[in-house]
Amino acid sequence: MTGAPQPRPGILEIAPYIGGESKVENVARVIRLASNESALGPSPRAVEAFRNVELHRYPDGGSVDLRQALARHHGIDASRIVCGTGSDELISLLARAYSGPGDEVIYSRHGFLMYPIAAQSAGATPIAVPEKNLTADVDAILARVTPRTRIVFLANPNNPTGSFLSRDEVKRLHAGLPRSVLLVIDAAYAEFVTRNDYEPGVELVEASPNVVMLRTFSKIYALAALRIGWGYCSADVAGVLNRIRGVFNVNLAAQAAGLAALDDIAAVDRARSHNDVWRPWLERELAALGLVVAPSVANFVLARFPAAPKSADQAFAFLQSRGILTRKMGAYGLPEHLRISIGTEEEMRAVVAALADFLGTA
Ligand code: PMP
Repeated sequence: MTGAPQPRPGILEIAPYIGGESKVENVARVIRLASNESALGPSPRAVEAFRNVELHRYPDGGSVDLRQALARHHGIDASRIVCGTGSDELISLLARAYSGPGDEVIYSRHGFLMYPIAAQSAGATPIAVPEKNLTADVDAILARVTPRTRIVFLANPNNPTGSFLSRDEVKRLHAGLPRSVLLVIDAAYAEFVTRNDYEPGVELVEASPNVVMLRTFSKIYALAALRIGWGYCSADVAGVLNRIRGVFNVNLAAQAAGLAALDDIAAVDRARSHNDVWRPWLERELAALGLVVAPSVANFVLARFPAAPKSADQAFAFLQSRGILTRKMGAYGLPEHLRISIGTEEEMRAVVAALADFLGTA
């Protein structure tokens, strides 16, 4: 046989995920608003726990202490929690376990990009369902379900639009799905939501064997570097994920820091309060500059720019030249938009001042 080794069909068709940038040439102090990271940084208790880790020890492969703490914190069943190397790993594992060639995986058009990537990696066909007002459309999703559908991925709130579906809408989505279809509710930004018509997915998981809720320590807990996510699901789905995950998928430093972060309620409250002040502030300021801002319940804002010479791409380049990194949205089908994460007060004032200069209203 000649020729180079070839991957499975479909793998080379995957458009690789491109993360937010973190460096700007010739700029020492970069303002990073490209990846929806925490504005305030982690709990000092988490940092302390991280420092005390014995590096020569293997982690507990079952993340038992962390799962038990999560179970106490959320009033749920530890045996049905599965921890992962970020929720990204769980998205991939779910796609791999429940879909394959010939199967369809549904996500909403401007939903988180890891869903189509994970589906394609598994050999399945991702199906993008159009949204209404930059919000997942329950009726359109249900109308697109076929006998081939295996998974529906819903980010709630959604990244990058910042929109969400109410408890009733998610219930209606679930009620309309065949029981054989897995509904994955990705609630990565749940802790930022302060709406009383929002529910992250616990209720549906408790009531139904075909629902998974995903959560992460990367956002409000500010531990993105350590890669800790978790899923809550039926015993059957947990059994499947535990069979195919890496045996030591959550490292010891991550487990220790995650445990400490979970305990620091005041740190989470501070992060939420900060977000509650600065997200509306940023939304107002951007609107006052003439940009169209999608209402967000999360720790980022999606803003639509006018045509050239004031386009989103040009705004991105202008901000970058001032050391401010935001996220371009072309890969999400939103090329007229930039997504801006909520940072510190100083960072928020800097991005608004720079955009005022860019738009020529300063
Ligand atoms: N889901 C959504 C909706 C996200 O925005 C992100 C992070 N960008 C993730 C999952 C992945 O988070 P993690 O760091 O836990 O892998």
